[in-house]
Amino acid sequence: MTKDIKARGMDRRTVLKATGALSATSLFGAPAIAQNAGGSAPAASLPARGEFVVRGAHVLSMDDRIGDFPAGDVHVRDGAIVAVAASVNAPAAQVIDGRGMICMPGFVETHWHHWTNILRPVMRQDDPKLGYFPVTAGLGVHYVPEDSYHSGRIGLAEALSAGVTTTQNWAHNVRSPQHADAEMRAMRDSGLRGRFAYGNPVRDPNDKPMDIADLARAKRDWAGKDNMLTLAICSRSVDSANAATRGGISPDMAKKEWGAARDLGLPITMHTSGKGAIKILNEAGLLGRDLQLVHPLNTDEEDRALLARHGVSYSTSPIGEARRPGDLQFDEMLEAGVKLSMSIDHITTYDCDCFVCMRMLYTLSTHRFGDKRKVTTKRLVQLATIDGARDLGFGDITGSLTPGKRADLILIRANGPNMAPLGYPYDALVTMAQPANIDTVVADGRILRRKGEFTALDFDKLVREASDALAALKVRAKWA
Ligand SMILES: [Zn+2]
Repeated sequence: MTKDIKARGMDRRTVLKATGALSATSLFGAPAIAQNAGGSAPAASLPARGEFVVRGAHVLSMDDRIGDFPAGDVHVRDGAIVAVAASVNAPAAQVIDGRGMICMPGFVETHWHHWTNILRPVMRQDDPKLGYFPVTAGLGVHYVPEDSYHSGRIGLAEALSAGVTTTQNWAHNVRSPQHADAEMRAMRDSGLRGRFAYGNPVRDPNDKPMDIADLARAKRDWAGKDNMLTLAICSRSVDSANAATRGGISPDMAKKEWGAARDLGLPITMHTSGKGAIKILNEAGLLGRDLQLVHPLNTDEEDRALLARHGVSYSTSPIGEARRPGDLQFDEMLEAGVKLSMSIDHITTYDCDCFVCMRMLYTLSTHRFGDKRKVTTKRLVQLATIDGARDLGFGDITGSLTPGKRADLILIRANGPNMAPLGYPYDALVTMAQPANIDTVVADGRILRRKGEFTALDFDKLVREASDALAALKVRAKWA
């Protein structure tokens, strides 16, 4: 980071002032983020990509042309999927015994506020003053880049342990260019694939536009260096929902910010769970295939027809949505032909569990429609993998076990008490599986989890760093 700052003619004091860092010595001293010179630099601590073959697993490719294999092999070399078949000849490859396990693509979640991850210990379910919105707004304004970094790392570690190999970091607290860099550095250092959605700082005035110049700089420095990290913007809402804490902007401001993003070729994501936003966006001419909305609640038939016609997608975070007013309109979106994906949202008042997210969608659909529900368990696994990849623009890179794609895959132990004996695997994944069943996680051909353990990551160190960052944050914020 020092090199990068010097290159832009800023001295250390200027940066400390600009970032509001009261005591940022450790930020600049920390090796993990000191070497930030842009997106192409690989994180030194990640295990190397090698050549291996998973043998004898129940393979779910999520690619109709390839299909599934009750006992099949998956061959990976130099980060790419080489072959998927009932039997693969790969004499030089390390063998991973997949018997008793399901092998499938890693989960692709499409909206997660990674900057809030360190706030988990502050939240209380039984005290509204310590709920998600007051805590994130109250502490968010005091974030230094180091907080953003450690927050990202601890949540991305949870993502890995839960089988998520691609995430969209919905960063609605980018307080400076250094905060943006810290969040993207955390993503790079994690080894996960992802899209960074650049947003405004918490409690920014609604008439102040986002830092477009830095958005262009972030694109130049970080995005598209390889297939691991891309860029988008996360917009404040146009329907005034949560305007006090998360922003509620006018259609004119949306035109300005979205226009600038589109000029840079960057897609857009926006929360909208209330009524009216979709009609406002349509009247402003802002709907398009590069737009993802989040939280499908409270839309009407006209809204859904507009979304389908303009190719807008919707990301559903089932646990969060089930805690809000309105029906989770998953079946309505499916029926209208709206593109969908699935997301975690945050991990401060629940954990990262894609199985539970799929189970919630299945259960709520059944609760509302009984046997007339639109969704099947296989469709939900597609939602959590290939649909998410397409939604984030990674459809040709990940989301299915297709030769030529990058190797993002997970092995799930199906021979334990909650899944054995294994029947129809899609039912087992949606109705029975849990993150503890995940044995192996591979991202871009790197084996990052094996036998339920991190292969290279010092998780205890991440917890210490996250805890220290939170303690210092609370002191700065004079948080009781
Ligand atoms: Zn959200």
